[in-house]
Parts: sequence; structure tokens; C-alpha cells
Amino acid sequence: MQLLFLNPVFKERLWGGTTLKSRFNLSIPSEHTGECWAISAHKNGETTIKNGEFAGCGLSKLWRDHPELFANANELPATSLREFPLLVKILDANADLSVQVHPNDEYAQQVEGELGKAECWYILDAKPDAKIVYGHTANSLDEFKQLALSGKWNELLTTVAVKSGDFFDVPTGTVHAIGAGILILEVQQSSDTTYRLYDYDRRDDSGQPRELHLDKSFAVVSIPHRNNLIKPVTTDPINNAILTMLVSNNNFQVQKLEVFTGFASDDSNDNLIYPIKAKYLLVTAIEGNAIINGYAVNKGDSFIVPNQVRQLEIEGKITLIMSNES
Ligand code: ZN
Repeated sequence: MQLLFLNPVFKERLWGGTTLKSRFNLSIPSEHTGECWAISAHKNGETTIKNGEFAGCGLSKLWRDHPELFANANELPATSLREFPLLVKILDANADLSVQVHPNDEYAQQVEGELGKAECWYILDAKPDAKIVYGHTANSLDEFKQLALSGKWNELLTTVAVKSGDFFDVPTGTVHAIGAGILILEVQQSSDTTYRLYDYDRRDDSGQPRELHLDKSFAVVSIPHRNNLIKPVTTDPINNAILTMLVSNNNFQVQKLEVFTGFASDDSNDNLIYPIKAKYLLVTAIEGNAIINGYAVNKGDSFIVPNQVRQLEIEGKITLIMSNES
């Protein structure tokens, strides 16, 4: 059984840049490329399969028509009735992104007709002094509204300095923004619902401020901010590799696998992909290059390990971010 590589979808953004090309050699469409949707079945930017018998097939169709790639045999009908649950992106923030908040499943399904958007960020690179907005200081919704409506953003928003290798869980309801000079790998629920709270009073090309969604932001924001800072758990080195659990919550697990020379998986797994116990894996290479199960993989490549593949054999020095649904 093959690994399923994907053709990424790019999004040009006012805040985007060229790092996706300079760092990952991705074929970006312009010098303002903000987002690479690396593994996506979302209608706003669906990736297609690049190789093998499913080449050219969109991921949503593959999920619907071939649930055996994503589920164990006893779960097949249920799998094809759901939406593909996750979305993996790489974001190049050449300028500050707007301050935003995302709804949970219940609110998003009622109001927007789609999933909520829990997300998490692995910081791939950050310029010195780079910062994110992560949380706020208000203790009540009244206080939150009052500070927001009177423009006291410095008082309301909490900023955190970041560096390469940092990781942040961003549950629904979290006030957040990626700052300028940060490259991020984001794993999120497959949703495109964003409520913009503040855009630094910037104007677009026609001199208009960008639309804000204050009422919806007030409806979904977590108060007080829940500081969900995670301490990644690193397992003992196995087979010349280090496996780090970055986050495990109701929506997804995200792990980092650092392979130093080679990595031969063993057979002693309980019918799940070794070394990660998952029905299928979404993988993005973020450093190095290697041969994985016979395929040449370079940093910037993304692929799916389908259910039928139970082992990974890796030759080379490479770092992978591996995600699976919970
Ligand atoms: Zn977000």
C-alpha cells in the first residue's frame, strides 16, 4: 500500500511573504503567499492526491469513496458519513494577522453550518522579538466588551514571545493572532470560520477598514482566558528517533518525530501504525530529507499514511509533524 502525497493549495494574503518558497521550495503563486493548505478536504481549498492510483482525486472524494484508507474495517460506513475532520496548513506571516477567535462545534454548526475550529501551532521559525497574541486579561464579558469597544487593546490582549520549536494549543474561544516574522505549521479542525476582533485599524487598498465580527466574537470568546500552555512529552529515544507528543485533545493528537539516521519500525504494534497508534496519519516534513517506505521525502512535503500501512521505514535525517484525529 502506498503513501498518499498531496498537491498543496496556496492562499495569497496581504500579510503573506515568500518563505514558503525559500524554506520549503514550494511553488508559491506570488510574493504575498500567506498560506499553504498542505492536507485539506475543505471546499475552500481542497488538496488532491499527487501519486499512484488515486492521482488527481480530491481528498474529500477519496475520504467518501474509500473509507478503508482511513478507518478500521468495523467503522467503514460511519467514516464515509462524516466530513474529513482535520486541516494542516503552513502559514507565513510577513506582517501581523488580525486578532481573532473561533467558535466551538455547537455554535459553528448552528450559525455557520460547519465544524468549530480548534487549532494548534508549531512554530517553525520566528524572527527575534516575534510575538503572538494569546489570550486576554478580562475577567467578565462586560469588561471584555468595554475594553474592546473603547479600543484599549494593549490593556486587553496578552502577547507572548515565541521562538522556533515552541508549540501552542489554541482551543475554540481563545483570542489569538500570529505576529509578523513567524512561520507556523497549524493543525486544525477542517473549518474556515474566523471571527475578526481587531485588525490594528489597518485599511485595505481602497482605504476601507477590514470587516470585524464583534458580536460573534463576544458570543464565543472564553472568559476568563484559559491558559492552555502545553508541556510537550518526549518519549525515550527509539530506533535513533525521538517522538514528542505536542498535544492530545478531543479533536486531534499532534506529534513530532525526529529521525537522526534511520528508523526501522518493529512489528510489535497492535494493528496500528507504528510508532503512533492511529488509524491513519497526516504527515508534513519540516526539516531534512529521507526515504520513507521507498518514497523520497523532502521538507515541505505532506502525505497521508493510510490505514493499510502499518509501519514506517525511514532512511535519512528528517523531522516530521504527524497528526491524527482523536
Ligand atoms: Zn485562528
